[in-house]
Amino acid sequence: MQKSALKILQTTFGYPSFRGEQGAIVEHVINGGDALVLMPTGAGKSLCFQIPALVRDGVGVVVSPLIALMQDQVDTLKELGVRAAFLNSTQSLEEANEVEAALRRGELDMLYVAPERLLLPRCLNMLQSAKIALFAIDEAHCVSQWGHDFRPEYIKLSVLHELFPDVPRIALTATADAQTRDEMVLRLQLEEARTFVSSFDRPNIRYTIVEKANGRAQLLNFIQTQHKGDVGIVYCLSRKKVEETAEFLIKNGINALPYHAGLSLETRQANQTRFLREDNIVMTATIAFGMGIDKPNVRFVAHLDLPKSMEGYYQETGRAGRDGEPSNAWMAYGLQDMVQQRRMIAESDASDEFKRTLNIKLDAMLSLCETLACRRVHLLEYFDQASEPCGNCDTCLYPPKSIDGTQVVQKLLSCVYRAGQRFAATHIIDVLRGVSTERVEQFRHDQLSTFGIGKDVSEAEWRAIIRQAIAQNLIYVDFDHYNSLHLTDAARAVLKSEVTVRLREYVKPVKQRSGQSSSAANIADANLSDLEKSIFNALRAWRFETAKTHNVPAYVIFHDATLREIAIDKPARIGALKGLSGIGEKKLENYGEQIIAVVAQFL
Ligand code: ADP
Ligand code: ZN
Repeated sequence: MQKSALKILQTTFGYPSFRGEQGAIVEHVINGGDALVLMPTGAGKSLCFQIPALVRDGVGVVVSPLIALMQDQVDTLKELGVRAAFLNSTQSLEEANEVEAALRRGELDMLYVAPERLLLPRCLNMLQSAKIALFAIDEAHCVSQWGHDFRPEYIKLSVLHELFPDVPRIALTATADAQTRDEMVLRLQLEEARTFVSSFDRPNIRYTIVEKANGRAQLLNFIQTQHKGDVGIVYCLSRKKVEETAEFLIKNGINALPYHAGLSLETRQANQTRFLREDNIVMTATIAFGMGIDKPNVRFVAHLDLPKSMEGYYQETGRAGRDGEPSNAWMAYGLQDMVQQRRMIAESDASDEFKRTLNIKLDAMLSLCETLACRRVHLLEYFDQASEPCGNCDTCLYPPKSIDGTQVVQKLLSCVYRAGQRFAATHIIDVLRGVSTERVEQFRHDQLSTFGIGKDVSEAEWRAIIRQAIAQNLIYVDFDHYNSLHLTDAARAVLKSEVTVRLREYVKPVKQRSGQSSSAANIADANLSDLEKSIFNALRAWRFETAKTHNVPAYVIFHDATLREIAIDKPARIGALKGLSGIGEKKLENYGEQIIAVVAQFL
């Protein structure tokens, strides 16, 4: 049986071999077993149910909450020659009737259904009289009442087990934590299922967290030097900031769009569609954007504001590089962010217990920002997976120096203390730097012994020091009293020189000159000769036109990686295209000649 699965992988999908656990999962489901699959975004969950659906008799039914994406998923399968269709509320009655008729005639390999549609008695009846190969429950974490994506209909999916006891079920998610896993098993009645957990590492994503000076200008510089013309997502905390950032990027010649829950449904849908279809687009968004967005060639995800948790950060950055090509996860972070997030928690009307949980989650996120060690090791550790320093994050590539900051932190702590623990960071920095503001004079802080003792340290650097002192729990911020800084108990030992303090050596944020970038994306391009680049660009132009004619996103035709391979191979005959990754039989038949013609212009 396994052999026919591999054959389908190669001939239909055009991939030479299974990745990671895919082979084992496919075999297990083909043999009728239930499975719970936890795999990071981009690792290849779809094949885990698509191939068993093709090998087993009957139709594979895929339950997915992502209605907006069903069309593209079905188009992608049709391009491969798979008989796929979907049923959801976006269709006309006639379209739905046609799909149902095809199902009754046994002419479907794969059917995507929205959960609320599936649960209608009419739909369940219809499925009971059809031959079902398997049920795939995608985004299975939607069953968790405690998660962000909770869908009440998902809980009712346990009915599948009762009505179709002999049909294998495979539940899939990219959410890793143990609590969600337990809920999926319980609510979907997957006690008998075999669980497959993959490594959550995304080696092609390069993590970078920079000191925030002027976030927007830094973002623009990052895009211009490393991601000119690339697809990206920029996350901001507020709707207002989303709009302002999009405007700013547009003014600077970048094809940007806004997305947040305050926009009308039509605008949101239109912007999402443009994002999926266009090839050089940057979506500026709140975290309302992104679930199920499986555009494979998102080359960067940027955060202009600090995410609330590691889960959020991991999920959002995970939208980069689903095609496995080098990609960047970039974030600008500063003292302001830390204070703002803490204040939002303090001022929310959540229970004290819930606030405590939120603060613990924020602490974990802050410690990722402040770490001197490998970001990836830190990130994976949070998800209970051990790893080695990766060589593909900022701290691995440009190891920050850790310096003895005891003296400078003592200056800070004693200044906070002498000013009476009633003032916020800005004022304390003025006193340390010996700046005579109105406020300094009003409180006669120019008379303090700490006035001007930190002249030699810049304002930005002082902010970085305060941030680290907060992160190391030497200072806390009182949000009820004008964000005033206070000493913690741990500060005493530092003031008495009983312990030393390590700080990250301050590096001034530098502007990267274009052409000098260390871009992940550019590295991939750099491997091509000039001729190959020309062929690659011609192939992209051809793909763009073809996608337009078929009214599908470009990646449904071919991924960049496939075009790059063609450009390197420079095939002169159709036969030579066989075996290139991403070219199955159907695509060879449909596009082989056209590709050869494009390449021939250069030979
Ligand atoms: P997920 O749903 O886990 O986020 P997808 O199923 O969308 O990921 O797969 C991510 C990408 O990896 C897709 O473009 C897919 O075609 C590709 N892919 C999956 N499995 C393989 C494989 N065995 N060989 C080559 N490419 C693969
Ligand atoms: Zn690293």
